[in-house]
Amino acid sequence: ARASGIGDWAVFQPEMGRVADHRQWVESELHVAFERGDFDLHYQPQLDLPTGRVVGYEALIRWHHPERGTIPPGEFISVAEETGMIAPIGEWVLRKACTDARLLPEDCFVAVNISPVQFMTRDFVGIVERIIKETGIAPKRLELELTESAMMQDRDRAAQILKQLTAMGISVAVDDFGTGYSNLAYLIDFSFHKLKIDRSFVSRMETDSNSGAVVSTIVGLSRALGVRTIAEGVETENQATLLRAAGCQVVQGYFFGRPAPLVLGDAGLVVPADR
Ligand code: C2E
Ligand code: CA
Ligand code: CA
Ligand code: CA
Repeated sequence: ARASGIGDWAVFQPEMGRVADHRQWVESELHVAFERGDFDLHYQPQLDLPTGRVVGYEALIRWHHPERGTIPPGEFISVAEETGMIAPIGEWVLRKACTDARLLPEDCFVAVNISPVQFMTRDFVGIVERIIKETGIAPKRLELELTESAMMQDRDRAAQILKQLTAMGISVAVDDFGTGYSNLAYLIDFSFHKLKIDRSFVSRMETDSNSGAVVSTIVGLSRALGVRTIAEGVETENQATLLRAAGCQVVQGYFFGRPAPLVLGDAGLVVPADR
């Protein structure tokens, strides 16, 4: 059984000894896994609510271990951040997503999760710039998903980096919005294009009016700032209806499509499998 709530990575045994063992195992295996090419990206569609059109795909990393099977990112990203492995892994994710974007319909973007640690590394902007050049994708087809915590460590520097990235034409979304800092003043200083409403609000909005109020407030805030709103973790038609009524423009979740590897579609195009 999965114990929940201990740290960021899922834990298979509640005793701390096992937790430490598992962490140790992940740490020792990450390096060899990266060299061996165990990692893969799955893609989950993001849809424009009014039209139902797929506008982009979020890239989600998967680790396929030869003996232990698929290990979810929640179990290794934080370890990769602590050990520094997030730098090569994060760069690999960016390059792979931009390469894959060339196989997707031209009007679709790829959204890539950027760890706060990766965001703050010395040459982050240079790396992104290089990958865009190498792969030849239009910068507007790349969206970076950054959490509030990534931006709050060193606000001036973060504002500077965001300015450079958006000046290049890259799109920026604030991920897990509403779960982090309550101080909204930083929003004024930062250049970004989207607020991404965290799944915790979406999953509760049917039963808890406070969550619905939070969703409406985020949509209102987005409007006032001139950015778009996307909701993640949409699992039911009712949630989609409520989000639409609240004025949310883009949706993503199991109801519309699960994360899946790229496959060859009927028309010869390579598109992610639906569900
Ligand atoms: P996230 O960025 O908030 O991504 C959304 C997570 O919710 C994903 O889990 C996705 O598979 C899952 N999800 C999508 N739709 C639904 C739904 O309708 N219901 C439910 N219950 N879940 C849904 P996943 O793939 O396990 O990723 C977990 C977290 O790991 C991500 O949270 C993100 O923070 C991190 N992550 C994933 N890929 C990468 C990566 O390439 N780089 C970095 N730095 N972090 C990553
Ligand atoms: Ca994300
Ligand atoms: Ca989330
Ligand atoms: Ca997250």
